Amino acid sequence: MVLFGPPGAGKGTQAQLLRDRLNLAHVSSGDLFRQNLNNNTPLGLKAAEYMKQGHLVPDEVTIDIVLDKVLSLNSEEGFILDGFPRNRYQAEVLEKALAQRSRGIDKVVHIDVCQEELIRRLAGRFNCRDCQAPHSIDKVAFSQEDLKCGQCGGELYQREDDRPEAVQRRIEVYQRETLPVLDYYREKDLLLDVSGLDTVEKVNKDVLAGLGVI
Ligand code: AMP
Repeated sequence: MVLFGPPGAGKGTQAQLLRDRLNLAHVSSGDLFRQNLNNNTPLGLKAAEYMKQGHLVPDEVTIDIVLDKVLSLNSEEGFILDGFPRNRYQAEVLEKALAQRSRGIDKVVHIDVCQEELIRRLAGRFNCRDCQAPHSIDKVAFSQEDLKCGQCGGELYQREDDRPEAVQRRIEVYQRETLPVLDYYREKDLLLDVSGLDTVEKVNKDVLAGLGVI
């Protein structure tokens, strides 16, 4: 399955819930880049130049790293792609690579959230340095305890690309380059549209209901 939506829609949060509930592997392109950056690999350092400004990392870097991960999974293992594909070319390459292994995308879940809400959410988003889990923090009234990950106790930090200048660019890039991928999947009748404006639990319920799991 592909989890699709603008930055701040809640893809990462929903991916973690779906991973646990449906026993799927979670492959997040952004997390793969951040792990590389934490380990100071050449790939991580190259990706970071684009990420911090809110641009897409070039396809020749991105496609290899994501496909390596997906194609290394056991053929029985289902997976959730989070943050990939982000343009039409990535979608086409993904489809071909999966077809060569007699695999494919069953569903594309589109989590839709309006722009004002995205900006509000990203301003208060903090991520765990260890497990990457996203958390929402009220910057005016937070305690030291709030800066610890609720899942693994790791330290929370604000991503450089969640700062206002980069957020605006990421939303523009989403509208220009990533939104057209929706039409690609709509034509293939794979799309499930879900409003991402509700609580995490309600969005999760809507996704599971749309997938026919509950
Ligand atoms: P994310 O964690 O999904 O918000 O991704 C963070 C950043 O990583 C994005 O703003 C891009 O710079 C880069 N990135 C992640 N996925 C992709 C992708 N599929 N194509 C190009 N760049 C990506």
